[in-house]
Amino acid sequence: MKARYQTVLIDADNTLLDFDAAEAGALRRTMERRGLPFSGETLGRYAAINRALWDAYHRGEIDQDWLKGERFRRFGGELGWSGDEWAWNQEYLDALGDCGELLPGALELLAALKPHCRVGLATNGLREVQRRRLAASPILPYLDGVFISQEMGVGKPHRAFFDRALAALGGARETAVMVGDDLLSDIQGAIDAGIDSIWYSRKGDLSPLPTYTVTTLGEAAKILLGET
Ligand SMILES: [Mg+2]
Repeated sequence: MKARYQTVLIDADNTLLDFDAAEAGALRRTMERRGLPFSGETLGRYAAINRALWDAYHRGEIDQDWLKGERFRRFGGELGWSGDEWAWNQEYLDALGDCGELLPGALELLAALKPHCRVGLATNGLREVQRRRLAASPILPYLDGVFISQEMGVGKPHRAFFDRALAALGGARETAVMVGDDLLSDIQGAIDAGIDSIWYSRKGDLSPLPTYTVTTLGEAAKILLGET
């Protein structure tokens, strides 16, 4: 069997790692410590604030250091809480770092790729969090490279991020692919870098951008290995 791709870049959060579960757990812990009410609604508000700031980061409008405090300043402001956004952020990151839960099929996907492809983790997540979460999960032995934007000095969707990751893995553009859940940082980034893409669309949304769209990681494995 010949795999369809030789070099596979894979996003971490909400592609291999269950970021939504980690976020909810870390937020609940830090809110309860402050006597603030955690609920699906407050989680949704935090997620929306955080998402908007990460989108601004991906557009190059803000940097990550500012983002970390600003999200809790805005979120706390909505709850009538103020003054300790940086401490709150640090506690939140500490809690997040303990959560290395994988999404269904993540380990199976990496194990299936291992004999056939060089695999690099490609993430814009914060270094201190991602390194701890990787250490707390069993995926590290399956990776040929770990590419964290903070360590590389450039993040997805910028072409330089993909160029450097591919160069480090020794992969040719023609046989490389990016797998991820984010249409901007993962999929548009891959398009701009001139490589194929697989969009992990867990909710089944559709987009004309990616080369392939899948709703499970098992489908991604079949495409990557040339079984479909
Ligand atoms: Mg992601």
